[in-house]
Amino acid sequence: MEMDLPGILEGIQGPVALAFSYQAEDVAALHLLLHSTAEPRDLEVFTLDTLKLFPETQGYHEAVEAFFQIPIKRYYPDPDEVRQVEEKLGEWGMRGSLEDRHYCCNVRKVAPLKRALAGKSVWVTGLRAAQSPTRSNLQILEYDESHKLMKINPLVSWSEVELAVYLHRYGLPLHPLYAQGFKSIGCAPCTRAVKEGEDIRAGRWWWENPEHKECGLHLRKAGTIKT
Ligand code: SF4
Repeated sequence: MEMDLPGILEGIQGPVALAFSYQAEDVAALHLLLHSTAEPRDLEVFTLDTLKLFPETQGYHEAVEAFFQIPIKRYYPDPDEVRQVEEKLGEWGMRGSLEDRHYCCNVRKVAPLKRALAGKSVWVTGLRAAQSPTRSNLQILEYDESHKLMKINPLVSWSEVELAVYLHRYGLPLHPLYAQGFKSIGCAPCTRAVKEGEDIRAGRWWWENPEHKECGLHLRKAGTIKT
């Protein structure tokens, strides 16, 4: 289950960023990274605060900072662009069409992510291939053409059970909404709890086809490196 993250990092120079989006996978990836035996690196743990997060997320953000004794930097969307989105879509308009949803995600997530990754050499994520059809071809190590950096997905081959075992073994904190039936954490208008047996991503953008369920953060254009 565990992989040679230090070994992979050793071969890549420059600042490392870990994207923390409040998923159980992100806590595991952060724990893996902080407990790797690699030499200390220039590391930034960041989150994209879309201004549409659940109220519970604030408390969880602080709990994770306290648990790991590390700051999680927030990147916000541009206020003028947010105003334009809200004028066009109102509170729920992102559900009206795929185009409108992508417009909101682009302003609130994709543009801030570009700022977060600027100047970084490595982007560590908590993505798992089993999470959704859009992630089935994911590799441990990839070149991210959009952001011009190496992307490491240390949990790529983990199953849901393996993730649960890891979280339990190290007593890692979970977002409180997991206890209310959520299996993925995101923005309040676009995330809901799922029923027993439903797909792990069924609670994200549930009105869309499964192959559309990405927010534009993890588009995979080219440069896949298989390990
Ligand atoms: S997930 Fe929903 S609320 Fe969040 S940025 Fe995307 S469309 Fe907007």
